[in-house]
Amino acid sequence: MSYTITQDCIGCRLCLSTCPTGAIQPGESGQYRIDASLCNRCEGFYSVPQCMAICPANHACVPDAQDYWANWFVQYHRMVDQVRQADEVAYWDQWFDRYSQRLSHLLTERSPVAQT
Ligand code: SF4
Ligand code: SF4
Repeated sequence: MSYTITQDCIGCRLCLSTCPTGAIQPGESGQYRIDASLCNRCEGFYSVPQCMAICPANHACVPDAQDYWANWFVQYHRMVDQVRQADEVAYWDQWFDRYSQRLSHLLTERSPVAQT
């Protein structure tokens, strides 16, 4: 899954220099686009996708999710990264670990495989 730039892009160009793989390129009408074959979500470079982190426009640079849950987990990990930068790291680590385990358990219970 790569990231993608939506119609909400205001063409500020801030994301161009932040992309470590050169995936962001000029598009149409002053907006930009992401070459999905070059975007690796900044893995190996940053813990958070830089285009999304720096983008000043709401929802202009978003995960190009093929399914709802892939998108959900991207947002989840983004929130975890933000919280981990705060004080009380041990408390939030434990909270998210328990939350993840509980959610994983619920998803397993509700999956079609579990119901058959
Ligand atoms: S997620 Fe990272 S690699 Fe992909 S376009 Fe954005 S900055 Fe570039
Ligand atoms: S940072 Fe956001 S608004 Fe600016 S060019 Fe990139 S996608 Fe568009």
